[in-house]
Amino acid sequence: MKLINNLLIQIIPFFPKSFIKIFASPYIAGITDDEMLATVANLNKKGYDVAIDILGEHVTTGKEATEITERYSKLYDEISSRSLSANLSIKLTHIGQDLGYDIVKKNLMILTKKAKQHKNFLRLDMENSPYTSETIKLYKEALEVYKNVGIVLQAYMHRSINDMDTLSSENFNCRVCKGIYVENKDIVYDDYQEIRENYIELVKMGLQRGAYIGIASHDEYIINNLYKWIKDYSIPKTQYEFQVLHGVPMKKMLEKLLKEGNRVRIYVPYGDNWYDYSVRRLKENPKMAGYIISNMFKK
Ligand SMILES: Cc1cc2nc3c(=O)[nH]c(=O)nc-3n(C[C@H](O)[C@H](O)[C@H](O)COP(=O)(O)OP(=O)(O)OC[C@H]3O[C@@H](n4cnc5c(N)ncnc54)[C@H](O)[C@@H]3O)c2cc1C
Repeated sequence: MKLINNLLIQIIPFFPKSFIKIFASPYIAGITDDEMLATVANLNKKGYDVAIDILGEHVTTGKEATEITERYSKLYDEISSRSLSANLSIKLTHIGQDLGYDIVKKNLMILTKKAKQHKNFLRLDMENSPYTSETIKLYKEALEVYKNVGIVLQAYMHRSINDMDTLSSENFNCRVCKGIYVENKDIVYDDYQEIRENYIELVKMGLQRGAYIGIASHDEYIINNLYKWIKDYSIPKTQYEFQVLHGVPMKKMLEKLLKEGNRVRIYVPYGDNWYDYSVRRLKENPKMAGYIISNMFKK
């Protein structure tokens, strides 16, 4: 099975777009703002909070960076006017990080001020390692304007434990995830269990320092371990939330977490730029491609 999955990873880029779209549909909350906002309202009704992400990254012109910034800005207005429980999770390369520090900083400040105006929250996703230090620097600049800005640390990165150590305090809002980008082996943990243990250590360190932590994982081992520890150490429910990607099956776990009074946030990506995101998800879990192929043949 592992061999088949590895083979699938190699050939995924050659799959027709229509095939990827079949796979993508559970993960993507539509193409338009209205489709996505309907999904958000539906999730809120079920008790979930949401983080909204317009799909896309690495814009190559200032015009695109401005357009995306304006779209995100308008989303804060929509969230307020529809009384939705949702914040925004953005990639800095989507608002111009590749175009120079001044451009991305200008756009980040626009969004930070907009989040402040609406008393909402802004999360900076963490992209691959060439962007890590600058993302942290920009996060600190945004924090000077508004306290409700957060960042992400990736458990596969060796440096993350030092970053958590340096950054964590009562004002620190951090999502911890495993990390999704392909990185040089010198700077990341390669072993699955080692990444898990580092993940758990990062979250515990953050929580012990009083930080607010978004536990972003579908890994039952991580969720169960941390949830037990959180209960054992009486960590207040106001200091953490669980986060998952829209569409990933969680076998009733989320309902249980909600029922026990925990905050659960669904990361909802949407937009016409769905292809790259879907391919990443498919590579991450090639079993899905196998299911789709077998279902197609059954039909
Ligand atoms: C809310 C959220 C935000 C994130 N933000 C970032 C970010 O800013 N930067 C970054 O580098 N990464 C980000 N990620 C991705 C993350 O780094 C991991 O790549 C991803 O979450 C898979 O890791 P896992 O902890 O779920 O563990 P895994 O070991 O990958 O998965 C555990 C189990 O969950 C199931 N599963 C996982 N993924 C899928 C899937 N796509 N489809 C179906 N089942 C699946 C499988 O059953 C798998 O065995 C984010 C993830 C989440 C949940």
